[in-house]
Formats: sequence, C-alpha cells, structure tokens
Amino acid sequence: MTDAARGFSSRALHVGQEPDPTTGAVVTPIYQVSTYKQDGIGGLRGGYEYSRSANPTRTALETLIADLEGGAHGFAFSSGLAGQDCVVRSLLRPGDHVLIPTDAYGGTFRMFDKVARPWGIDYDIVPVADADAVRAAVRPTTRMLWVETPTNPLLGIADISALAEVAHAAGAVLVVDNTFASPYLQQPIALGADVVTHSATKYAGGHSDVVGGLVVVRDGLTITVPDGDPVGPDAATRVAFHQNSIGAIAGPFDSWLVQRGLKTLAVRMERHCDNAEQVVDFLTAHHGVSHVYYPGLATHPNHEIAARQMSRFGGMVSFRVRAGEDVAVKVCAETQLWTLAESLGGVESLIEHPARMTHASVAGTELEVPADLIRLSVGIEDADDLVADLEQALDRLA
Ligand SMILES: *Cc1c(COP(=O)(O)O)cnc(C)c1O
Repeated sequence: MTDAARGFSSRALHVGQEPDPTTGAVVTPIYQVSTYKQDGIGGLRGGYEYSRSANPTRTALETLIADLEGGAHGFAFSSGLAGQDCVVRSLLRPGDHVLIPTDAYGGTFRMFDKVARPWGIDYDIVPVADADAVRAAVRPTTRMLWVETPTNPLLGIADISALAEVAHAAGAVLVVDNTFASPYLQQPIALGADVVTHSATKYAGGHSDVVGGLVVVRDGLTITVPDGDPVGPDAATRVAFHQNSIGAIAGPFDSWLVQRGLKTLAVRMERHCDNAEQVVDFLTAHHGVSHVYYPGLATHPNHEIAARQMSRFGGMVSFRVRAGEDVAVKVCAETQLWTLAESLGGVESLIEHPARMTHASVAGTELEVPADLIRLSVGIEDADDLVADLEQALDRLA
C-alpha cells in the first residue's frame, strides 16, 4: 500500500519517519547539529551540509506537513509569522497589492500594515466571507488573496473554492491560514488554495510548548517574475530560497515537538470538537449569553459552507455576555479549569477577553471586536468539568 492511499492518522505517524538507518530508532532523532562531515568536497551524505539550509529533523517535519496538507512542498519556520513573512517576500514584490480579511489575525494585519506596506506592498481589507465583495476589490496589481477560515475571534467562514476562483481569475495566489481548522478538519489545497500557512504554535504543536510556523505550497505553483529575476517563477523554489536566505528556520527540537504534535492531531481534534459541541450546547441555553459564535451551529451565517469544507467544526468558540464588558472581563478571571491566557489550540482549555488581550491592538480599526466578547480555546479535559466551571462563573456573574 502506498502512503497516498493511507488514512490521515497512518500518514501522520509514518510519512517522513522511516526508522533511523544507523540505529533503527523508531522516532525521528533530534539532530541537534549545525554542520555535516563531507566525504571529499561536495560529497554530502544525504544532501546535508549546514542546518540553516537543511536539517534531518526539520526535513522530517516538512515532509510530513506537505503530505498532510496535500501539497508538494513543506517548510518549517521559527514562528507562524516568520513563515508568513517568507511567503510574502517569496511571492510578492514592491508595487504588488494584497487583499486581507476584515478579521485577520492581529499579527497578520500588523505584518501587512507595518512591515509589508512600508516595503511597497499595498493592501485592502475585504470581508472574505463575501466572494463578490472580494472580486470587486481586486485591482490590476492584486497578486495575493490572504484568507483565514475559521477566523479569530468571530469564527467567520470563507468559501475557499469560491475564493480560489476569484483569486485565479485575477492572476493572484490564494493563501489560506489553516491554523484554526488544522489539516485534519480542512484541506485548503484540495479546495483550490495555492499556499497554506500555519502557526504550529497552536493545534499542530498542540501542547502550548513550542512556537513554530509551517508553510505548504501546492504542486506546480508558478508566479510571474520580471526578466533577470535571480530565483525564477517556481513558487516552492522561491520559498526554499527565501527560507534559507532570510533564515527564520525551525530548530531541530522545535521541529521534533511539532512533528510529535502532528502524530496525535486526529485524536486531539476529535476530542476538541466533541468538547466544543458540549460547551456550545451549554452556552446557547444560558440566559446570560447573548450570542454564541461557532461554525457548527445551524444558525451560523455560513454554516453550510463550513459543513462542506470542514469535516467537523473545531475547538474554538466565542460568545457575548448579555451584561456587557465588565462582566465579560470578570468571567474570564473567575474560571478555574479554564486558564486565562492568550494563544489557543493546546490540550488545556484557555479563556480570554479579545478586546483587551489578543485584539487590543486593533481597537479603533476595521478589525475591532465586541467588548462583551469572550473567546474559548476548548481543550481536551472532561467536558462535564469544563461546562461546570463555566456554569459556576456565568451563574454568579452574568
Ligand atoms: C497565532 C497565529 C498566527 C501567528 O503565529 P505565531 O506562531 O504566533 O507567529 C497566525 N495566524 C493565526 C490564525 C494564529 O492564530
């Protein structure tokens, strides 16, 4: 049986992870090494010469994520944003225009606004849930459409296939940040995306113990480059060139942690989804809650699109507290099992107040979020305990 015919979990546990040829070690070793002995000048063993360019532990992770996302080439970075920066520098040049989502991850917005724009890349903010609005915002210089789905923290859903058509009709590349869904629940390349990015810090790593980024490029992606470009039109070659030339690579131990995280992604995501569904049931029935945001709810405006492109609806849930901002802030401080913290996607449940925490930097912009909003990253504890903890806080305060 070929790897390609195997299921997600079989591939997650085996692709890129042949037992070590010298020792038979079953788990990919942490090659904590910077340089490699050459058998005569240029006589590389296995193609390794210096660990910025390539390292066996990182290669194992890169091979695995490319497979799990259904792409041809994977790249591992020191953070999600390092990977995103590499995608921008590899596939865009000054004078190009990008479309980014209204509720983009705050760090993504800051990167386009404060780093890429001064470099000469203009952007417009578009509601990516509305493909017609995206089409109307395309300019002759638009070279990239950047999409997150589900979005943070309002769990908006964008139609990846429809947006792939819009992007490709415009001669632009569709990049999907697949951090929230993970490749287990959603595979953007199969839906028409050209590039997938991840903050591996979140579900891919899954244990709140590593900061990392992943990028996957689909097979055969090329971009138009000016005459005399030193790297050429092949997108994966360009990302590899920039990864090595800029150097924000994932180190061996971080690569190993993310690879280990991906091995259990399927079982973790099933449990995250099971628990999120129970939390959503509780919240929708609670008198103190005015709105629950979850793509699995039939009342979610794009539930049908989510059901088409995701196998389940994920572990992120947001809700608004009827009594307003002060009570929302208090609820975040009054849970015991839910830890008050930024970030998401780990096995432990987290609670936070986006307006004052993760999204404080977008106050007063088009990306501002409601002040009475609470965001939950539902972990894999016992669902009854998670619900009981929310219940004691909401019953008392809301
Ligand atoms: C966290 C996050 C990022 C940034 O990743 P880092 O690993 O923190 O650099 C990008 N996109 C989304 C959706 C995220 O949640």
